[in-house]
Amino acid sequence: MDLIDIGANLTHESFHQDLDAVLARATTHGVGRMIVTGASREGSEHALLLARASEGRLFATAGVHPHHAIDYDEATHDTLRRLAAEPEVRAVGETGLDYNRNFSPRDIQRAVFERQLGIAVEFGMPVFLHQRDAHEDFIAILRQYRDRLPAAVVHCFTDTGEALRDYLDLDCHIGITGWICDERRGAHLRDLVREIPANRLMLETDAPYLLPRTIRPAPKDRRNEPMYLAHIRDEIARDRGESPETLTASSVRTTEAFFNLGS
Ligand SMILES: [Zn+2]
Repeated sequence: MDLIDIGANLTHESFHQDLDAVLARATTHGVGRMIVTGASREGSEHALLLARASEGRLFATAGVHPHHAIDYDEATHDTLRRLAAEPEVRAVGETGLDYNRNFSPRDIQRAVFERQLGIAVEFGMPVFLHQRDAHEDFIAILRQYRDRLPAAVVHCFTDTGEALRDYLDLDCHIGITGWICDERRGAHLRDLVREIPANRLMLETDAPYLLPRTIRPAPKDRRNEPMYLAHIRDEIARDRGESPETLTASSVRTTEAFFNLGS
């Protein structure tokens, strides 16, 4: 059974030259399907085009990352609503709050997060969520919408056990990346992944970001890509005390249900 990478930023410029080779390597390493993250208006349009060009293999999300919240205007809102209606687009996002870098003012991040949650409610779609250093505001907003959302994944979860339990209590899914391989800042995740029920756990690379620090040899350009999802799967399976095959099967089942992919 082939893995599904739920967070691949394949519209990133670092993939412009060799995307076909990247996809071929993913296949070789047992990564069959990928959800291409839409993180801006233009990026979401691009993600849809990639999904259309690789039907059944690539799918897309449509959203605006909190870093870009400052750019969100009515035209962006209209674009995201149009994209949400496309069959290749399987979730609204990436959206959420990022108080780590504050590239956009916090009040604007909150307003733009709510507008995108509104689109997901309107179209009955799952949401692909980003939260960094903003758990309290993030969960307060998400709580107001959760009952009206079919499903929600907190992607690239890196936060504390308390935050994890808050999300699981809200019946959220959790996306785990190669951050777990970072012995400096991800070691706590090795225990926490045991607390995530199999039917709430999904796997992602967040490529080209977050190259797992345990990859040997590390690629010279430090670019992460979907083929490394197999390595991340192996690490998480070991931490959970289960076989790679078991984690592959459960995560694929969970992901197919979340994004309505069929099997
Ligand atoms: Zn993110």
